[in-house]
Amino acid sequence: MTAVELLHLQQKGELTAQTIAEAFLSAVQQREPTLRSFLWMDSEDVLRQAAAVDAKRRAGQPLGALAGVPVAIKDVLCTKGVRTTCASKILANFIPPYDAHVIERLKAADAILFGKTNMDEFAMGSSTENSAFQQTRNPWDSTRIPGGSSGGSAAAVAGCQTPLALGTDTGGSIRQPAALCGIVGLKPTYGRVSRYGLIAYASSLDQIGPFAHDVTDCALLLQVIAGHDARDSTSAPLPVPDYRAELENPVRPLRIGIPREFFDKGLDPEVESLVRQALREYEKLGATLIDVSLPHSPYALAAYYIVAPAEASSNLARYDGMHYGHRTSQKSDLIGTYAKSRGEGFGKEVQRRIMIGTYVLSSGYKDAYYRKALKVRRLIKQDYDHAFQECDVLMGPTSPTAAFRIGEKVNDPLAMYLSDVYTVGCNLAGLPGLSIPCGFTREGLPVGLQLIGPPFSEEKLLRIARMYEKVTDWHTRRPPLISAKPNPA
Ligand code: GLN
Repeated sequence: MTAVELLHLQQKGELTAQTIAEAFLSAVQQREPTLRSFLWMDSEDVLRQAAAVDAKRRAGQPLGALAGVPVAIKDVLCTKGVRTTCASKILANFIPPYDAHVIERLKAADAILFGKTNMDEFAMGSSTENSAFQQTRNPWDSTRIPGGSSGGSAAAVAGCQTPLALGTDTGGSIRQPAALCGIVGLKPTYGRVSRYGLIAYASSLDQIGPFAHDVTDCALLLQVIAGHDARDSTSAPLPVPDYRAELENPVRPLRIGIPREFFDKGLDPEVESLVRQALREYEKLGATLIDVSLPHSPYALAAYYIVAPAEASSNLARYDGMHYGHRTSQKSDLIGTYAKSRGEGFGKEVQRRIMIGTYVLSSGYKDAYYRKALKVRRLIKQDYDHAFQECDVLMGPTSPTAAFRIGEKVNDPLAMYLSDVYTVGCNLAGLPGLSIPCGFTREGLPVGLQLIGPPFSEEKLLRIARMYEKVTDWHTRRPPLISAKPNPA
Protein backbone atom coordinates (compact mmCIF):
# COMPACT_ATOMS: atom_id res chain seq x y z
CA MET A 1 0.00 0.00 0.00
CA THR A 2 0.99 3.60 -0.48
CA ALA A 3 1.42 6.07 2.36
CA VAL A 4 -1.75 7.86 1.25
CA GLU A 5 -3.73 4.61 1.51
CA LEU A 6 -2.26 3.86 4.93
CA LEU A 7 -3.18 7.32 6.22
CA HIS A 8 -6.68 7.00 4.84
CA LEU A 9 -7.33 3.58 6.36
CA GLN A 10 -6.12 4.79 9.75
CA GLN A 11 -8.48 7.76 9.58
CA LYS A 12 -11.35 5.43 8.78
CA GLY A 13 -10.38 3.29 11.76
CA GLU A 14 -9.69 0.23 9.58
CA LEU A 15 -5.98 0.11 10.42
CA THR A 16 -3.89 1.16 13.38
CA ALA A 17 -0.27 2.27 13.33
CA GLN A 18 0.42 -0.91 15.26
CA THR A 19 -1.01 -3.25 12.60
CA ILE A 20 0.81 -1.30 9.89
CA ALA A 21 4.11 -1.54 11.74
CA GLU A 22 3.62 -5.25 12.33
CA ALA A 23 2.83 -5.88 8.67
CA PHE A 24 5.90 -4.04 7.41
CA LEU A 25 8.11 -5.66 10.02
CA SER A 26 6.94 -9.04 8.84
CA ALA A 27 7.62 -8.02 5.22
CA VAL A 28 11.14 -7.04 6.30
CA GLN A 29 11.63 -10.34 8.04
CA GLN A 30 10.31 -12.29 5.07
CA ARG A 31 12.28 -10.52 2.33
CA GLU A 32 15.43 -9.38 4.07
CA PRO A 33 17.28 -12.66 3.47
CA THR A 34 16.90 -11.91 -0.27
CA LEU A 35 17.06 -8.13 -0.41
CA ARG A 36 19.38 -7.12 2.44
CA SER A 37 18.12 -3.53 2.28
CA PHE A 38 18.62 -2.71 5.95
CA LEU A 39 21.73 -2.19 8.03
CA TRP A 40 19.75 -1.60 11.20
CA MET A 41 16.23 -2.35 12.34
CA ASP A 42 14.94 -2.15 15.91
CA SER A 43 11.50 -3.73 15.76
CA GLU A 44 10.74 -3.02 19.40
CA ASP A 45 11.39 0.65 18.87
CA VAL A 46 9.23 0.61 15.73
CA LEU A 47 6.35 -0.90 17.68
CA ARG A 48 6.82 1.64 20.48
CA GLN A 49 6.63 4.50 18.00
CA ALA A 50 3.48 3.00 16.48
CA ALA A 51 1.85 2.56 19.88
CA ALA A 52 2.55 6.23 20.64
CA VAL A 53 0.79 7.29 17.43
CA ASP A 54 -2.22 5.10 18.20
CA ALA A 55 -2.39 6.53 21.72
CA LYS A 56 -2.35 10.05 20.35
CA ARG A 57 -5.16 9.19 17.95
CA ARG A 58 -7.25 7.62 20.68
CA ALA A 59 -6.75 10.67 22.87
CA GLY A 60 -8.01 12.85 20.02
CA GLN A 61 -4.75 14.76 19.79
CA PRO A 62 -3.78 16.35 16.45
CA LEU A 63 -1.65 14.05 14.28
CA GLY A 64 1.12 14.90 11.84
CA ALA A 65 1.10 14.47 8.07
CA LEU A 66 2.77 11.04 8.15
CA ALA A 67 1.12 9.62 11.24
CA GLY A 68 1.79 5.91 11.52
CA VAL A 69 3.60 5.67 8.18
CA PRO A 70 6.97 3.87 8.16
CA VAL A 71 9.87 5.77 6.58
CA ALA A 72 13.21 4.00 6.11
CA ILE A 73 16.33 6.15 6.43
CA LYS A 74 19.54 5.96 4.41
CA ASP A 75 22.36 5.32 6.87
CA VAL A 76 24.06 8.60 6.01
CA LEU A 77 21.51 10.60 8.02
CA CYS A 78 22.18 11.14 11.71
CA THR A 79 19.64 9.57 14.05
CA LYS A 80 19.98 10.38 17.72
CA GLY A 81 21.00 7.32 19.72
CA VAL A 82 20.85 5.07 16.64
CA ARG A 83 24.02 3.82 14.98
CA THR A 84 24.81 5.71 11.76
CA THR A 85 27.58 4.15 9.70
CA CYS A 86 27.52 5.47 6.12
CA ALA A 87 28.11 1.76 5.39
CA SER A 88 31.74 2.34 6.37
CA LYS A 89 33.96 0.51 8.81
CA ILE A 90 35.34 3.85 9.88
CA LEU A 91 31.95 4.80 11.37
CA ALA A 92 30.91 1.28 12.35
CA ASN A 93 30.36 2.32 15.98
CA PHE A 94 29.20 5.90 15.55
CA ILE A 95 26.09 6.80 17.53
CA PRO A 96 25.08 10.38 16.75
CA PRO A 97 24.09 12.53 19.73
CA TYR A 98 21.57 14.43 17.58
CA ASP A 99 19.00 14.05 14.82
CA ALA A 100 19.38 15.37 11.29
CA HIS A 101 16.91 18.11 10.39
CA VAL A 102 14.88 15.74 8.22
CA ILE A 103 14.65 13.25 11.09
CA GLU A 104 13.31 15.95 13.40
CA ARG A 105 10.74 16.77 10.72
CA LEU A 106 9.69 13.13 10.37
CA LYS A 107 9.30 12.80 14.11
CA ALA A 108 7.21 15.97 14.24
CA ALA A 109 5.03 14.51 11.47
CA ASP A 110 4.44 11.36 13.57
CA ALA A 111 6.13 9.15 10.97
CA ILE A 112 7.53 5.82 12.12
CA LEU A 113 11.33 5.83 11.75
CA PHE A 114 11.78 2.46 10.14
CA GLY A 115 15.38 1.29 10.21
CA LYS A 116 18.56 2.44 8.50
CA THR A 117 19.22 1.36 4.94
CA ASN A 118 22.29 0.08 3.17
CA MET A 119 24.25 2.27 0.78
CA ASP A 120 27.56 2.63 -1.00
CA GLU A 121 30.18 3.64 1.54
CA PHE A 122 29.89 7.42 2.09
CA ALA A 123 27.41 7.50 -0.82
CA MET A 124 30.17 6.86 -3.34
CA GLY A 125 28.93 4.48 -5.97
CA SER A 126 26.10 3.51 -8.30
CA SER A 127 25.37 -0.06 -7.26
CA THR A 128 25.52 -0.32 -3.43
CA GLU A 129 28.39 -2.76 -3.97
CA ASN A 130 30.71 -0.38 -2.11
CA SER A 131 28.98 -1.00 1.23
CA ALA A 132 31.48 -2.34 3.75
CA PHE A 133 28.79 -4.59 5.22
CA GLN A 134 26.46 -6.28 2.73
CA GLN A 135 25.13 -6.46 -0.81
CA THR A 136 21.60 -5.21 -1.37
CA ARG A 137 19.77 -6.89 -4.24
CA ASN A 138 17.32 -5.61 -6.79
CA PRO A 139 13.76 -6.73 -5.89
CA TRP A 140 13.00 -7.33 -9.59
CA ASP A 141 15.95 -9.68 -10.03
CA SER A 142 18.06 -10.65 -7.07
CA THR A 143 21.11 -11.35 -9.24
CA ARG A 144 21.25 -7.63 -10.03
CA ILE A 145 22.22 -4.46 -8.23
CA PRO A 146 19.51 -2.08 -6.97
CA GLY A 147 21.47 0.96 -8.15
CA GLY A 148 23.24 3.29 -5.79
CA SER A 149 24.27 4.86 -3.70
CA SER A 150 20.85 4.82 -1.98
CA GLY A 151 20.27 1.20 -3.06
CA GLY A 152 18.99 0.03 0.32
CA SER A 153 16.28 2.69 0.45
CA ALA A 154 15.19 2.01 -3.14
CA ALA A 155 15.11 -1.76 -2.67
CA ALA A 156 13.18 -1.40 0.61
CA VAL A 157 10.42 0.62 -1.10
CA ALA A 158 10.34 -1.46 -4.30
CA GLY A 159 10.34 -4.64 -2.20
CA CYS A 160 7.40 -3.26 -0.14
CA GLN A 161 9.37 -3.47 3.10
CA THR A 162 8.41 0.16 3.72
CA PRO A 163 6.08 2.52 1.86
CA LEU A 164 8.53 5.44 1.99
CA ALA A 165 12.26 6.03 2.37
CA LEU A 166 14.79 8.84 2.35
CA GLY A 167 17.90 8.86 0.21
CA THR A 168 20.54 11.35 -0.79
CA ASP A 169 21.61 12.40 -4.26
CA THR A 170 25.03 13.89 -4.97
CA GLY A 171 25.28 12.77 -8.58
CA GLY A 172 22.20 10.62 -9.09
CA SER A 173 21.93 8.44 -6.01
CA ILE A 174 18.19 8.91 -5.58
CA ARG A 175 17.11 9.00 -9.23
CA GLN A 176 19.26 6.13 -10.54
CA PRO A 177 18.27 3.53 -7.90
CA ALA A 178 14.64 4.69 -8.18
CA ALA A 179 14.81 4.03 -11.94
CA LEU A 180 16.51 0.65 -11.53
CA CYS A 181 13.99 -0.45 -8.89
CA GLY A 182 10.87 0.84 -10.67
CA ILE A 183 9.84 3.48 -8.15
CA VAL A 184 9.65 7.28 -7.87
CA GLY A 185 12.68 9.21 -6.59
CA LEU A 186 13.13 12.96 -6.31
CA LYS A 187 16.30 14.99 -5.92
CA PRO A 188 15.15 18.41 -4.74
CA THR A 189 16.70 21.73 -5.75
CA TYR A 190 19.95 22.38 -3.88
CA GLY A 191 18.89 24.28 -0.75
CA ARG A 192 15.30 23.00 -0.69
CA VAL A 193 15.97 20.46 2.07
CA SER A 194 18.34 21.16 4.96
CA ARG A 195 21.53 19.08 5.02
CA TYR A 196 21.93 19.51 8.76
CA GLY A 197 22.82 16.08 10.11
CA LEU A 198 23.53 14.62 6.67
CA ILE A 199 27.05 13.21 6.78
CA ALA A 200 28.76 15.12 3.99
CA TYR A 201 30.09 13.57 0.81
CA ALA A 202 30.29 16.58 -1.53
CA SER A 203 28.62 19.49 0.23
CA SER A 204 27.90 21.65 -2.83
CA LEU A 205 26.07 18.75 -4.53
CA ASP A 206 24.40 16.69 -1.76
CA GLN A 207 20.61 16.82 -1.36
CA ILE A 208 18.21 14.65 0.63
CA GLY A 209 15.03 13.45 -1.06
CA PRO A 210 12.15 10.97 -1.06
CA PHE A 211 11.59 7.48 -2.50
CA ALA A 212 7.99 6.37 -2.96
CA HIS A 213 5.77 4.12 -5.06
CA ASP A 214 4.06 7.05 -6.72
CA VAL A 215 4.17 10.80 -7.26
CA THR A 216 1.54 11.61 -4.63
CA ASP A 217 3.47 9.81 -1.89
CA CYS A 218 6.63 11.52 -3.10
CA ALA A 219 4.93 14.92 -2.75
CA LEU A 220 3.71 13.99 0.71
CA LEU A 221 7.20 13.13 1.97
CA LEU A 222 8.84 16.13 0.30
CA GLN A 223 6.29 18.37 2.03
CA VAL A 224 7.44 17.12 5.41
CA ILE A 225 11.19 17.49 4.85
CA ALA A 226 11.37 20.69 2.74
CA GLY A 227 11.93 24.18 4.07
CA HIS A 228 14.38 26.56 5.61
CA ASP A 229 16.68 25.59 8.45
CA ALA A 230 19.10 28.14 9.89
CA ARG A 231 21.58 25.38 10.77
CA ASP A 232 22.38 24.78 7.09
CA SER A 233 23.72 28.02 5.63
CA THR A 234 22.85 26.83 2.11
CA SER A 235 19.25 26.10 3.03
CA ALA A 236 16.97 28.41 0.99
CA PRO A 237 14.86 30.86 2.99
CA LEU A 238 11.89 30.35 0.69
CA PRO A 239 8.32 29.36 1.47
CA VAL A 240 7.39 25.74 0.68
CA PRO A 241 4.42 25.37 -1.66
CA ASP A 242 1.62 22.92 -0.96
CA TYR A 243 2.87 20.14 -3.24
CA ARG A 244 -0.42 18.29 -3.35
CA ALA A 245 -2.80 21.24 -3.80
CA GLU A 246 -2.50 21.35 -7.60
CA LEU A 247 -1.09 17.88 -8.17
CA GLU A 248 -4.10 16.64 -10.14
CA ASN A 249 -4.11 19.71 -12.41
CA PRO A 250 -2.20 19.07 -15.62
CA VAL A 251 0.36 21.66 -16.73
CA ARG A 252 -0.98 23.21 -19.95
CA PRO A 253 0.50 24.24 -22.26
CA LEU A 254 3.46 21.96 -21.61
CA ARG A 255 6.71 22.34 -23.51
CA ILE A 256 9.10 19.44 -23.03
CA GLY A 257 12.74 19.93 -23.96
CA ILE A 258 14.49 16.80 -25.21
CA PRO A 259 18.24 17.23 -24.76
CA ARG A 260 19.88 15.75 -27.85
CA GLU A 261 22.93 14.72 -25.80
CA PHE A 262 20.77 12.43 -23.62
CA PHE A 263 20.05 10.16 -26.59
CA ASP A 264 23.60 9.72 -27.74
CA LYS A 265 25.67 6.57 -28.06
CA GLY A 266 25.93 4.63 -24.82
CA LEU A 267 22.16 4.64 -24.31
CA ASP A 268 20.73 1.13 -24.32
CA PRO A 269 18.26 0.81 -27.25
CA GLU A 270 15.56 -0.78 -25.09
CA VAL A 271 15.82 2.02 -22.53
CA GLU A 272 15.67 4.56 -25.35
CA SER A 273 12.57 3.04 -26.87
CA LEU A 274 10.70 2.98 -23.52
CA VAL A 275 11.65 6.59 -22.84
CA ARG A 276 10.49 7.62 -26.32
CA GLN A 277 7.19 5.82 -25.76
CA ALA A 278 6.72 7.85 -22.58
CA LEU A 279 7.41 11.04 -24.52
CA ARG A 280 4.74 10.04 -27.06
CA GLU A 281 2.32 9.60 -24.15
CA TYR A 282 3.00 13.23 -23.20
CA GLU A 283 2.41 14.30 -26.79
CA LYS A 284 -0.98 12.57 -26.66
CA LEU A 285 -1.68 14.65 -23.56
CA GLY A 286 -1.08 17.78 -25.63
CA ALA A 287 2.57 18.49 -24.80
CA THR A 288 4.97 19.91 -27.39
CA LEU A 289 8.37 18.23 -27.68
CA ILE A 290 11.23 20.60 -28.39
CA ASP A 291 14.68 19.54 -29.49
CA VAL A 292 17.20 21.27 -27.19
CA SER A 293 20.92 21.05 -26.65
CA LEU A 294 23.02 21.02 -23.50
CA PRO A 295 26.31 21.48 -25.35
CA HIS A 296 28.55 21.07 -22.30
CA SER A 297 26.94 17.88 -21.04
CA PRO A 298 29.70 15.69 -22.51
CA TYR A 299 31.95 17.30 -19.87
CA ALA A 300 29.55 16.85 -16.96
CA LEU A 301 30.91 13.52 -15.74
CA ALA A 302 34.50 14.72 -15.91
CA ALA A 303 33.66 17.89 -14.00
CA TYR A 304 31.64 15.92 -11.46
CA TYR A 305 34.44 13.44 -10.85
CA ILE A 306 36.77 16.33 -10.03
CA VAL A 307 34.44 18.49 -7.93
CA ALA A 308 32.89 15.63 -5.91
CA PRO A 309 36.17 13.93 -4.94
CA ALA A 310 37.74 17.34 -4.16
CA GLU A 311 34.98 18.10 -1.67
CA ALA A 312 35.02 14.52 -0.39
CA SER A 313 38.74 14.62 0.32
CA SER A 314 38.18 17.68 2.45
CA ASN A 315 35.03 16.38 4.17
CA LEU A 316 36.55 13.00 4.95
CA ALA A 317 39.74 14.45 6.44
CA ARG A 318 38.00 14.49 9.83
CA TYR A 319 38.00 10.69 10.06
CA ASP A 320 41.50 10.21 11.33
CA GLY A 321 41.06 7.81 14.21
CA MET A 322 41.62 10.68 16.64
CA HIS A 323 38.70 13.06 16.31
CA TYR A 324 36.32 10.57 14.78
CA GLY A 325 35.86 7.02 13.84
CA HIS A 326 37.80 3.79 13.84
CA ARG A 327 41.28 3.89 15.37
CA THR A 328 43.85 1.27 14.47
CA SER A 329 45.07 -1.03 17.21
CA GLN A 330 48.51 -1.18 15.58
CA LYS A 331 51.14 0.75 17.49
CA SER A 332 52.47 3.78 15.64
CA ASP A 333 53.32 7.48 15.85
CA LEU A 334 50.70 10.15 15.15
CA ILE A 335 50.96 10.20 11.36
CA GLY A 336 51.19 6.42 11.29
CA THR A 337 48.04 6.18 13.39
CA TYR A 338 46.18 8.47 10.99
CA ALA A 339 47.33 6.49 7.98
CA LYS A 340 46.65 3.06 9.45
CA SER A 341 43.24 4.05 10.84
CA ARG A 342 42.18 5.48 7.49
CA GLY A 343 43.65 2.56 5.57
CA GLU A 344 41.73 0.07 7.71
CA GLY A 345 38.53 2.12 7.95
CA PHE A 346 37.95 3.29 4.38
CA GLY A 347 37.12 0.98 1.49
CA LYS A 348 38.86 1.01 -1.86
CA GLU A 349 36.51 3.36 -3.68
CA VAL A 350 36.55 5.91 -0.85
CA GLN A 351 40.35 5.82 -0.82
CA ARG A 352 40.39 6.30 -4.59
CA ARG A 353 38.15 9.38 -4.29
CA ILE A 354 40.25 10.85 -1.47
CA MET A 355 43.37 10.44 -3.57
CA ILE A 356 41.78 11.99 -6.68
CA GLY A 357 40.40 14.84 -4.59
CA THR A 358 43.68 15.53 -2.85
CA TYR A 359 45.47 15.49 -6.16
CA VAL A 360 43.15 17.92 -7.97
CA LEU A 361 43.33 20.35 -5.04
CA SER A 362 47.08 20.22 -4.62
CA SER A 363 49.20 23.23 -5.40
CA GLY A 364 50.29 23.17 -9.02
CA TYR A 365 47.27 21.09 -10.12
CA LYS A 366 44.40 23.02 -8.63
CA ASP A 367 44.21 25.49 -11.53
CA ALA A 368 44.46 22.79 -14.16
CA TYR A 369 41.81 20.54 -12.61
CA TYR A 370 39.71 21.91 -9.78
CA ARG A 371 39.33 25.49 -11.00
CA LYS A 372 38.79 24.31 -14.56
CA ALA A 373 36.06 21.95 -13.37
CA LEU A 374 34.35 24.84 -11.55
CA LYS A 375 34.33 26.82 -14.80
CA VAL A 376 32.84 23.88 -16.67
CA ARG A 377 30.26 23.58 -13.91
CA ARG A 378 29.23 27.18 -14.56
CA LEU A 379 28.91 26.50 -18.29
CA ILE A 380 26.75 23.46 -17.58
CA LYS A 381 24.47 25.57 -15.40
CA GLN A 382 24.20 28.11 -18.24
CA ASP A 383 23.21 25.36 -20.70
CA TYR A 384 20.28 24.48 -18.46
CA ASP A 385 19.32 28.15 -18.02
CA HIS A 386 19.20 28.56 -21.79
CA ALA A 387 17.20 25.37 -22.29
CA PHE A 388 14.60 26.48 -19.74
CA GLN A 389 13.95 29.65 -21.75
CA GLU A 390 12.37 27.39 -24.36
CA CYS A 391 10.70 24.71 -22.27
CA ASP A 392 9.11 23.96 -18.87
CA VAL A 393 10.86 20.69 -18.25
CA LEU A 394 13.61 18.52 -19.71
CA MET A 395 13.02 14.82 -20.19
CA GLY A 396 15.23 11.87 -20.96
CA PRO A 397 16.43 8.60 -19.51
CA THR A 398 17.50 8.49 -15.86
CA SER A 399 20.13 5.85 -16.46
CA PRO A 400 21.68 4.58 -19.71
CA THR A 401 20.88 0.94 -18.86
CA ALA A 402 18.55 -1.09 -16.68
CA ALA A 403 19.96 -2.78 -13.55
CA PHE A 404 23.22 -4.60 -14.24
CA ARG A 405 24.45 -7.79 -12.64
CA ILE A 406 26.15 -7.87 -9.26
CA GLY A 407 29.89 -7.86 -9.86
CA GLU A 408 29.61 -6.76 -13.50
CA LYS A 409 31.25 -3.36 -13.04
CA VAL A 410 33.07 -3.56 -9.71
CA ASN A 411 36.49 -3.81 -11.29
CA ASP A 412 35.91 -1.07 -13.83
CA PRO A 413 35.36 2.25 -12.04
CA LEU A 414 34.97 4.17 -15.29
CA ALA A 415 32.15 1.90 -16.49
CA MET A 416 30.53 2.37 -13.09
CA TYR A 417 30.88 6.16 -13.30
CA LEU A 418 29.07 6.11 -16.66
CA SER A 419 25.87 5.05 -14.87
CA ASP A 420 25.62 8.69 -13.76
CA VAL A 421 26.02 10.26 -17.18
CA TYR A 422 22.44 11.66 -17.28
CA THR A 423 22.10 12.51 -13.60
CA VAL A 424 25.22 14.45 -12.55
CA GLY A 425 24.38 17.58 -14.60
CA CYS A 426 21.40 18.25 -12.39
CA ASN A 427 23.57 18.25 -9.26
CA LEU A 428 26.27 20.41 -10.81
CA ALA A 429 23.56 22.93 -11.76
CA GLY A 430 21.68 22.59 -8.44
CA LEU A 431 18.42 21.66 -10.20
CA PRO A 432 15.56 19.40 -9.12
CA GLY A 433 15.28 16.03 -10.88
CA LEU A 434 12.65 13.34 -10.67
CA SER A 435 12.69 9.76 -11.87
CA ILE A 436 9.43 7.92 -12.50
CA PRO A 437 8.90 4.37 -13.78
CA CYS A 438 8.14 4.20 -17.52
CA GLY A 439 8.12 0.52 -18.38
CA PHE A 440 10.10 -2.70 -18.36
CA THR A 441 12.73 -4.27 -20.55
CA ARG A 442 12.08 -7.68 -22.16
CA GLU A 443 13.89 -9.20 -19.18
CA GLY A 444 11.38 -7.59 -16.84
CA LEU A 445 13.67 -4.88 -15.49
CA PRO A 446 12.24 -1.44 -14.71
CA VAL A 447 13.29 1.69 -16.62
CA GLY A 448 13.02 5.28 -15.41
CA LEU A 449 12.05 8.52 -17.13
CA GLN A 450 13.92 11.55 -15.81
CA LEU A 451 12.30 14.98 -15.50
CA ILE A 452 14.53 17.98 -14.78
CA GLY A 453 13.15 21.43 -13.95
CA PRO A 454 14.38 24.94 -13.17
CA PRO A 455 15.34 25.74 -9.55
CA PHE A 456 12.49 25.28 -7.05
CA SER A 457 10.08 23.87 -9.65
CA GLU A 458 9.36 20.70 -7.65
CA GLU A 459 5.66 21.48 -7.53
CA LYS A 460 5.43 21.68 -11.31
CA LEU A 461 7.69 18.66 -11.84
CA LEU A 462 5.44 16.56 -9.65
CA ARG A 463 2.34 17.77 -11.52
CA ILE A 464 3.94 16.94 -14.85
CA ALA A 465 4.91 13.49 -13.58
CA ARG A 466 1.40 12.94 -12.27
CA MET A 467 -0.04 13.60 -15.76
CA TYR A 468 1.85 10.56 -17.03
CA GLU A 469 1.01 8.46 -14.00
CA LYS A 470 -2.70 8.99 -14.58
CA VAL A 471 -2.55 7.41 -18.03
CA THR A 472 -0.15 4.57 -17.23
CA ASP A 473 0.03 1.89 -14.54
CA TRP A 474 3.78 1.31 -14.14
CA HIS A 475 3.69 2.77 -10.64
CA THR A 476 1.22 0.10 -9.52
CA ARG A 477 3.44 -2.81 -10.57
CA ARG A 478 5.13 -4.80 -7.83
CA PRO A 479 7.96 -7.31 -8.24
CA PRO A 480 7.05 -11.03 -8.27
CA LEU A 481 8.65 -11.50 -4.85
CA ILE A 482 5.74 -9.55 -3.38
CA SER A 483 3.21 -12.22 -4.43
CA ALA A 484 3.10 -13.65 -0.91
CA LYS A 485 1.68 -10.30 0.08
CA PRO A 486 1.49 -9.68 3.84
CA ASN A 487 -1.80 -7.84 4.13
CA PRO A 488 -1.84 -5.21 6.87
CA ALA A 489 -5.63 -5.53 7.11
N1 GLN B 1 27.40 7.48 -8.33
C1 GLN B 1 27.83 8.81 -8.04
C2 GLN B 1 29.09 8.78 -7.22
O1 GLN B 1 29.59 7.73 -7.01
C3 GLN B 1 26.74 9.56 -7.33
C4 GLN B 1 26.64 9.19 -5.93
C5 GLN B 1 25.62 9.99 -5.20
O2 GLN B 1 24.76 10.63 -5.79
N2 GLN B 1 25.72 9.97 -3.89
O3 GLN B 1 29.62 9.75 -6.82
